[in-house]
Amino acid sequence: MGKRMTKVVVIGAGNAGLSAALSAREHGADVVVLEAAPEDEYGSDSYFSGGLFRVSYERYSDLSALVDDLTLAGEGLDEFASYAEADFLDDWGRVTGYRLDPEISDHVVSNSFEALKWLHEKGKVPFVSPIIVDENGRARHSRPGWHGGFVEASGAGAGLTDALRRSTVASGADIRYGVEAIGLTRRDGGRGWTVATRTTVGGVVAEIDADALIVASGGFQADTEWRTRDLGVGWDLAKVRGSVHNTGKGLRLLLDQGAKAAGNWSGCHAVAWSTGSGEAGRADANHVFERESHPFGISVNSLGERFLDEGEDFGAYTYAKYGKVILTQPGQVAWQIFDEKTRSLWTDEYRYKNPEAARIQAGSLEELADKIVPRGMGSKETFLKTVADYNAAVDSGIEFNPYIKDGKRTNGLVPDKTNWSQKIEDGPFYAFEVTCGITFTFGGVKVDTGARVLDRRDEAIPKLYAVGEAVGGLYYFNYASGTGLTAGTVLGREAGRLAATA
Ligand SMILES: Cc1cc2nc3c(=O)[nH]c(=O)nc-3n(C[C@H](O)[C@H](O)[C@H](O)COP(=O)(O)OP(=O)(O)OC[C@H]3O[C@@H](n4cnc5c(N)ncnc54)[C@H](O)[C@@H]3O)c2cc1C
Repeated sequence: MGKRMTKVVVIGAGNAGLSAALSAREHGADVVVLEAAPEDEYGSDSYFSGGLFRVSYERYSDLSALVDDLTLAGEGLDEFASYAEADFLDDWGRVTGYRLDPEISDHVVSNSFEALKWLHEKGKVPFVSPIIVDENGRARHSRPGWHGGFVEASGAGAGLTDALRRSTVASGADIRYGVEAIGLTRRDGGRGWTVATRTTVGGVVAEIDADALIVASGGFQADTEWRTRDLGVGWDLAKVRGSVHNTGKGLRLLLDQGAKAAGNWSGCHAVAWSTGSGEAGRADANHVFERESHPFGISVNSLGERFLDEGEDFGAYTYAKYGKVILTQPGQVAWQIFDEKTRSLWTDEYRYKNPEAARIQAGSLEELADKIVPRGMGSKETFLKTVADYNAAVDSGIEFNPYIKDGKRTNGLVPDKTNWSQKIEDGPFYAFEVTCGITFTFGGVKVDTGARVLDRRDEAIPKLYAVGEAVGGLYYFNYASGTGLTAGTVLGREAGRLAATA
């Protein structure tokens, strides 16, 4: 008789869980993935994501290991495209106040390129590069004001998870949809785990045994009560950008097994999000609601006043913290105001004109104000004064450049806008109504670089791993775009390998 295969159970079929499952299969384990969402309603946060992965590499041509069709040529392409490990770490550290787990972040950064190469080769995930060459032959990010090294899954999050699900199934893993993990017990004196399960539809309860268990079930952002308890007053009013199934059940199971809580439990990733969205992620139209071009306009609240520095940093480093600021404004609402000359800088999501896009357009600022006031803007006079004061405060002596931190600022305002300030004076004028969209919560469990779950004495709990949003300590206060998927793949791949050989 041959040696019995190690049985690995993975809870959650997002990017992190599927990376873990694929890797565990690669290392010879028998793999079962439990996924709470029924297959026809499948939509993990990874599915709803933009599919953008932050990655470190030395020169543009290195990307040919990740991107099949790398064809660009242009001035300074290699210099522009290089993203050193030290820069990745520094960007991540800077936006999180250097509170991030130094070992895990270092591990994620230094393995980012190899892990994405693996995701491309083994996971069959097709990537594209978001670098373009402009009409002057200069290399830049396709998204103005973005910063860092990236590849993007072709077809965004849906393309990523569709490809990864196909490869995971083809590798021989058994993905069971509509099956939620609801309980966890240690088996055979710590030699394995028993997972209690319940079908999402019908509530049929069963059990499954595992030699090793990988929890990849996301954060608690979709649980209104838990979110409000941990993040604080007002968070019940945030819209959920992603999966309705990320209610923290997996985290609760881990904590109940003695896992150490780690990271910023009162913090989360939250963005400016169109008020036209539903209460949670929508498989048909999710990206329509993204509003990340704030650096090129101004944001005003329902008092008609500015309330943040729209140009504090590249959008890649401010978008994830400005949702919280909007949540604290009266009525949890704000309007992003632009004039016609910035239109070419908006991300694609701003172009939709359907009613859900909460887009308001007018030939003059007065008319724009008249259209916003019935939607909850308190004072037309204050709004017009805010725009006039802003226009008067723009430093006209500095040249506008959306691709660098241009220092084109206002002077004398509270708060000032410190980059990309241009007068709002060329009609038509636009207002996009936004509220707070929560992406994921930052609190999770403590793991080591092998994704082993640590207990309160920092000792590994045998045969127990956590990956993806379930990991704590990676993000504090803020977030560098594209880090979540990369961290999920690096640690997921590692967890799968170790669990298979545990
Ligand atoms: C709109 C949006 C855009 C984003 N864009 C990007 C981006 O471009 N780049 C980036 O890096 N990050 C992005 N993110 C964040 C990124 O999606 C997450 O960090 C990442 O997908 C988390 O992966 P995960 O596998 O941990 O969780 P998920 O992908 O959410 O997977 C968790 C899975 O676990 C399942 N589950 C939960 N509880 C249970 C249970 N008890 N039993 C069984 N199954 C369970 C859920 O149904 C879900 O399918 C975005 C997020 C959103 C919402």
